[in-house]
Amino acid sequence: MSEILKGIWRYQQVSRVELVDQIGLTSGTITNLTHELIQLGILRENEAISGNVGRRRVMLGFDPRFYRIIGLDIGRSSFEIVVMDLNGTILQSIERDMNGLQGPDAYFEVITPLVAGVKSDIEAAGYKILGLGAGVPGPIDYDSGTLLAPPNFPGWSNYPLQKMLEDQFGLVTLIDDDARTSAMAERWYGLGKNVNNLVSVTLGMGIGGGVVTEGKIVRGTNGLCGQVGHMTIVLDGKMCGCGNRGCWETVGSIPGILGRWSGGSTIEELQGAIKRREPEALRCLEDTLGFMEAALVNIQNLYDPELILLGGRLYPLLSDYLVQVKPRVQSRLYAFAKDRLRIEPSTFGNSQSAVGAAALLFGFLLAEPVRLLSLREK
Ligand SMILES: [Zn+2]
Repeated sequence: MSEILKGIWRYQQVSRVELVDQIGLTSGTITNLTHELIQLGILRENEAISGNVGRRRVMLGFDPRFYRIIGLDIGRSSFEIVVMDLNGTILQSIERDMNGLQGPDAYFEVITPLVAGVKSDIEAAGYKILGLGAGVPGPIDYDSGTLLAPPNFPGWSNYPLQKMLEDQFGLVTLIDDDARTSAMAERWYGLGKNVNNLVSVTLGMGIGGGVVTEGKIVRGTNGLCGQVGHMTIVLDGKMCGCGNRGCWETVGSIPGILGRWSGGSTIEELQGAIKRREPEALRCLEDTLGFMEAALVNIQNLYDPELILLGGRLYPLLSDYLVQVKPRVQSRLYAFAKDRLRIEPSTFGNSQSAVGAAALLFGFLLAEPVRLLSLREK
């Protein structure tokens, strides 16, 4: 079943005959399995007129009429909830400013009624909820679904987030590092659909990364794979929350950039000063781009992706200068590989992490549909 769902995800609309060609199962087996998936409300048949002969063909696609997925982005300064269907369409999105809220209790006081409200609206409209995903600042202990010691997120150390969400809302729940959910959003619903090797970089209050290699998200031994914000960029630089010195995050995140500029305290102010061509602001920008250039070269050499995606709250500031950064990065790469590198903005803007949190459930559905649906029934 997983192979069938993946085939349909890749091509969106596929006929049974095409599935037989792609997957190599007999047409009888394909017919039985797709029948079952249609009964379950996962797939539906759509009629399409095929090619120049004008013959009618029955195409299979995901059914957007029964299931909904809820995605949460539990951020340091903001919270977002999205509702998605099985086609990856964002049906609803709600955001809240969470600045000044300390710790899980205060946080849940705001989000519990919001999520409960969205959940009951979905159910009242007759839909079923496949599950709930959440993106959070990592690192995470995946076995227990516990946050470890997220930097700049006081009160959340050792917090059993997955269990708390499950208990509160009674849904199948998956959690992951917010940078990794952002990579999942690309992999399942965005530009990563046709790209097997990609690195997604989120630039904001911190710098996070998610690595997709051969189509799979890579976690590493400690769940730290792709933590590109913690690559050493300044050898004897400032202490970082991770224990290292001079990480990219200490100089390239929002606080890292503002810490190198004395002319103001927000990114918007810095942007203004750059427009006015104030020398200190221009120097700060030039250093920021230099750090990014080095980081992107390292990312490219370490992970060898086809595509590097950049997003997060800092992206709008940096996007104007990418035209300059890209050739500088390329000049430092292997000659035969440099022209193949693509650097693109992430697909879902600020909703990237919440969409990716929903994508965790979609990925689970594609990998183990029967298990997910039986967990739902419990
Ligand atoms: Zn660090």
